[in-house]
Amino acid sequence: MKKIVIALDGHASCGKSTMAKDLAKEIGYTYIDTGAMYRAVTWYCLQNGFFRGDTIDEERLEEEIGTVDIRLAFNPVTGRSETFLNGEKVEKEIRGMDVSGKVSLVSTLPFVRKALVAKQQEMGKGKGIVMDGRDIGTVVFPDAELKVFVTASPEVRAMRRVKELEAKGEPVSFEQVLENVKKRDFIDSTRKEAPLRQAEDALLLDNSNLSPEEQKQWLLSQYNRVISE
Ligand code: C5P
Repeated sequence: MKKIVIALDGHASCGKSTMAKDLAKEIGYTYIDTGAMYRAVTWYCLQNGFFRGDTIDEERLEEEIGTVDIRLAFNPVTGRSETFLNGEKVEKEIRGMDVSGKVSLVSTLPFVRKALVAKQQEMGKGKGIVMDGRDIGTVVFPDAELKVFVTASPEVRAMRRVKELEAKGEPVSFEQVLENVKKRDFIDSTRKEAPLRQAEDALLLDNSNLSPEEQKQWLLSQYNRVISE
């Protein structure tokens, strides 16, 4: 059966990763969470004292970015992808609000994007991947056979994220998450390098009123359409 690249881009916390994971599992593809890679670099910066408020020590990060080893590994026991930074599992750390508050700043840096895009292209060169992020259909895999741009209202997205964090035992306020979601969208879509935008040939999906099962079925039907073309 022919293997394709599926690119899912969209706004912060819009459920892209749930969709991407569900589809990958269903069709036996590899799921690649590129947001986790930007989050891991941000965690590295926090751990190494590269931030002064919202200012990053760009020089030090640029010197060290080549040595930052990021791996995404599938855990067969949990059925989830896990993120490793220089050999250490950081899956929990990178999902917290401190990383969410800084990650969009780190991802504006061209040398960070260059390093991570190269890794992503390498990871997906054999196709058979579902990759989610902000610039997958526009920059990383502009020739992806199936591109989807996902969005939902900021309030719906913030509420989903609050529930997700609560379920992980990390309670946060709705207002704090809503502000973070809006701030990240703003920085992501107005940055110079690879801004978040819908690729011309991407399908638009607003999932504000869709259940995870409904969006999975929608995506599966798009996959089946492309694969049979
Ligand atoms: O997908 P997630 O919300 O975890 O991504 C975290 C942040 O990483 C985004 O807000 C964005 O700043 C950055 N990102 C990016 N390009 C990608 C994936 C994520 O700039 N391909």
